[in-house]
Amino acid sequence: MIEVSGLVKRYGSFAAVRGVSFTVDTGRIVGLLGPNGAGKTTIMKVLTGYHRPSEGCAILDGKDVVEDPIGVKSMVGYLPEGVPLYLDMTVTEYLGFIADARGMSGPGRKRSLDKAIDDCGLSTVAGVRMERLSKGFRQRVGLAQAILHDPAILILDEPTTGLDPNQILEIRSLILSLGARKTVILSTHILQEVEALCSEVLILNEGRIVAQGSAAQIAADMQGDERLECLVKGSGKAAAEALRLVPCVLSADPAGVAAPGVERLRVVAGHGDGDTAAEAVFDWAAANGAKLLEMRRERLSMEDIFVRLTGEESRR
Ligand code: ATP
Repeated sequence: MIEVSGLVKRYGSFAAVRGVSFTVDTGRIVGLLGPNGAGKTTIMKVLTGYHRPSEGCAILDGKDVVEDPIGVKSMVGYLPEGVPLYLDMTVTEYLGFIADARGMSGPGRKRSLDKAIDDCGLSTVAGVRMERLSKGFRQRVGLAQAILHDPAILILDEPTTGLDPNQILEIRSLILSLGARKTVILSTHILQEVEALCSEVLILNEGRIVAQGSAAQIAADMQGDERLECLVKGSGKAAAEALRLVPCVLSADPAGVAAPGVERLRVVAGHGDGDTAAEAVFDWAAANGAKLLEMRRERLSMEDIFVRLTGEESRR
């Protein structure tokens, strides 16, 4: 479990992180999302003991990053941005070096090396010098060194940056399988990544958390009124008139012909009433023998949320 409370990190007089608090439960994958310079890497560097917090505290599985930095480092696996590797080493030599640095020895050392190589799909390149590896394989080596000592907590700074779509899918599936057993915190600019991997997201802007929760929760909180768009075979006008009588429905209006004999219907319900309104549309159709061809909830996408909260366009 990660517990961060009132975290401030200043570089000189500049506050890169300005009072951030959050918790990440064991077995959860939490994403840090934010524009360039929002403070994601800085938070990760504090969590790994690389930087001391200027104020506030960070406690990882009961260990304080300031009071017990060695204890924290022993149970954390860290994939820094831009994976620093000794390129003249082979994969096996490098991971062996990391195992030595972590004080691993005996049969357990060999088992851990074999497992990390296997889990990260590195068997075919284990004897290859890393200068000859593609970016995707180097990223996997970075992940392998992060998980080598089977850490309870994984901190991954932009784990899929620069990878091709196939490599991204492979690394994501590895992270998902690791996330079932560990506490994972990762940063990303890729909005799809948050939706694909994270049970919860922290959106940061200028050193502060501006939204926190599951993508669905954040979308629901920001959504305001809920909108349904339906395609009805028959009269949209009759449907609209009936649906206006449903208490949670704020408005229901025909919105044009979608195809011959098929009309579009727009229904707006109050915040949090989307499910009730959707059921009312369904019940009306069932009771009136109307053919409901389609019903779509308009939801805010991660991109809409990101742009609203940070005022920036982001890559998808
Ligand atoms: P990116 O998405 O570009 O990686 P980030 O959200 O990870 O950005 P940080 O790298 O944490 O952001 O940087 C937050 C702010 O702190 C930025 O304005 C950055 O310039 C500044 N900063 C980061 N490291 C240092 C440092 N060592 N000294 C001074 N300022 C720094």
